[in-house]
Amino acid sequence: MTDYPHLLAPLDLGHTTLKNRVLMGSMHTGLEETKDWNRVAEFYAARARGGVGLMVTGGMAPNREGGVFPGAAGLFTDKDIANHRIVTDRVHDGGGKIAMQILHAGRYAYGPECVSASPIKSPISPFPPKELDEEGIEKQIHDIATAAARAREAGYDGVEVMGSEGYFLNQFLVTHTNKRTDRWGGSYENRMRLPVEVVKRVREAVGDDFIIIYRLSMIDLIPNGSTFDEVLQLAKKVEAAGASIINTGIGWHEARVPTIATSVPRAAFAWVTQKLMGHVAIPVITSNRINTPEVAEQVLATGCADMVSMARPLLADADFVAKAMAGRADRIAPCIACNQACLDHTFSGKISSCLVNPRACHETELVIAPATTPRTVAVVGAGPAGLSVALTAADRGHKVTLFDRAARIGGQLNLARQIPGKEEFHGLVDWYEVMVADAGIDLRLGMQVGADDLGGFDEIVIATGVLPRDPGIPGQDRANVLSYIDVLTGKADAGETVAVVGAGGIGFDVSEYLVHAGQSPTTDIPDWMREWGVTDPEQARGGLAPEGPRPEGPARQVTLLQRKAERPGKRLGKTTGWIHRAALKMKAVEMVGGVNYERIDDEGLHISFGEARENPRVIPAQSVVLCAGQVPDRSLADALVARGKTPHVIGGADVAAELDAKRAIDQGTRLAATL
Ligand code: FAD
Ligand code: NAP
Ligand code: SF4
Repeated sequence: MTDYPHLLAPLDLGHTTLKNRVLMGSMHTGLEETKDWNRVAEFYAARARGGVGLMVTGGMAPNREGGVFPGAAGLFTDKDIANHRIVTDRVHDGGGKIAMQILHAGRYAYGPECVSASPIKSPISPFPPKELDEEGIEKQIHDIATAAARAREAGYDGVEVMGSEGYFLNQFLVTHTNKRTDRWGGSYENRMRLPVEVVKRVREAVGDDFIIIYRLSMIDLIPNGSTFDEVLQLAKKVEAAGASIINTGIGWHEARVPTIATSVPRAAFAWVTQKLMGHVAIPVITSNRINTPEVAEQVLATGCADMVSMARPLLADADFVAKAMAGRADRIAPCIACNQACLDHTFSGKISSCLVNPRACHETELVIAPATTPRTVAVVGAGPAGLSVALTAADRGHKVTLFDRAARIGGQLNLARQIPGKEEFHGLVDWYEVMVADAGIDLRLGMQVGADDLGGFDEIVIATGVLPRDPGIPGQDRANVLSYIDVLTGKADAGETVAVVGAGGIGFDVSEYLVHAGQSPTTDIPDWMREWGVTDPEQARGGLAPEGPRPEGPARQVTLLQRKAERPGKRLGKTTGWIHRAALKMKAVEMVGGVNYERIDDEGLHISFGEARENPRVIPAQSVVLCAGQVPDRSLADALVARGKTPHVIGGADVAAELDAKRAIDQGTRLAATL
């Protein structure tokens, strides 16, 4: 008997059966653009072997003008068909099924050739689209249907027609982007003509025994988005036009509401999909922030959907389904929804990977093979760098001893998880605990390791992390000047007015911690919806509450400062920085850049501006919290070197600048692969 009867139940689609209710949602990984089709195939095949019921590829352009960026992968020629065949064959050999997503970006395309319903530039792309005429619209429909036929020829089991997230088809649906007065605009009947026609023509092109998923935007989260009545009308029409499955899209890319970031509650939008249940006869998939089998099972068991889409969780662990089936869900590497190695990479033009699993999309390059000669390995520091080297080395057959002076493994992850909105870090540390115990690693906690303790090991790895940087501000030795560690470990109370020195990742997180009191909105869907101004699309177009965001008042008055004369938070995560900035703004945090720290005294923190140290100002503050960056803790590494040893130094102990868990884990894993 499984713990996940709904999740692991097969799904009969008539002409074919999916072995379970897990869909790997579409992700643009950048792999197809490498043209290394063996690498693409291995990425998908690993997930097929891991038991996913159905996978959807990253978006493939149906034509040049529809590509998300110039050179975006697509299925344009016969040669493309042969390349895609390498992928589909390998997936089928792995026991999986795969559908190709057809993604026409419309006005979101990063190219001067982009096209749309009306010539209205999007706020997130540089080119105004060309308004399509009747002939142009017919060409787009034809190209999408042709791409679907080619997908069938390439061995795919189906296609997903991308109709959500504000892409081309979505742009025809709403008056926000469709100002036409011909038969493709005006009434809703006219505005939905294009998506419906596309599904009809795709069905005609692929025949009956082929899966067509239509991804439908169920809550646009933009002004003048669809009402839920319009969503229902479209779903019924799409079903009648020949779709086999309807998948859920949540929010346009230009929406100012977070939809998949870590601060979004788990399964935050399953209720939206549930509203469609019973209105169509074909299966309905729900999506967004579903990252464990427990959450997925709950969503299905409560009737929110027939199937769940998980995308990033399958980057974090290719064996997600197999582990759930084996009753070892606690071994599934958790997606913490950080976006740091997946979406942030995509939007920086880099190949995706995963913070917790650096092998994701690097399956053919980062190979973990059994060690030829097992060795004894000492690892000092059980933060993410030390944990990943220890786990990978043990996996390869080395005998690993892992030391930490703390009572619990995790290092700075134990500080990260105190931040409201970063609750997923709890699960990450829990997972590491399970894996360390499973791997037979000799774990020695509560031990401050010195150079004398490390005799007799073949290899020594130093992962001792970082120390807070001393900013050298006159008066910083006062009792009311705290380090971020004092605050986040609860050793000190910051009082009601706080000045935070340093607006990097930690300064932002500490500010977030300080302005919140009580329950984190991330753990309560109604609270979170109120905070971001989300409502039922049956009540308001696009699901945007007319009264806007209504956050709780700030628990403290916080001023966040930095010396750089740039917008604070500019260097935070590519796809998540705006959320951190918006969240602090909603809590009335004053963010001040370009400051000099003059001194701290009874009045608070004295600052001035510019090289001439002008415009002196006092930030009244009961406490000042120092988040001024970090420096490597190399004391143990240096002591070993002084004794003639040659330890490996990784993570923050190696380089503290721009350190994050992604780099720490990647470096640890790659070192262990070579030991
Ligand atoms: P650490 O995590 O610092 O681990 C070092 C370990 O070594 C510690 O456990 C320490 O006890 C142990 N140690 C040191 N000396 C000795 C000794 N002599 N003997 C025994 N044990 C010793 N990163 C992200 O990627 N994403 C985030 O969202 C994020 N959020 C963060 C939020 C906060 C509030 C903080 C503080 C950090 C955050 N980080 C985040 C940064 C991330 O946690 C660090 O980059 C990462 O933990 C560094 O890993 P590390 O293994 O090098 O060092
Ligand atoms: P950081 O991002 O490098 O920020 C350090 C801050 O301290 C900057 O604002 C810097 O700005 C200031 N500073 C530097 N030297 C100073 C000095 N001598 N005096 C006063 N201020 C000084 O480092 P961090 O905030 O400590 O974060 C550490 C790492 O953890 C980061 O690299 C980050 O990637 C990671 N992290 C990531 C996240 C995430 O969400 N992804 C969250 C938290 C932490 P000025 O020099 O302009 O003053
Ligand atoms: Fe999830 Fe972060 Fe990995 Fe992306 S990088 S898959 S969000 S854990």
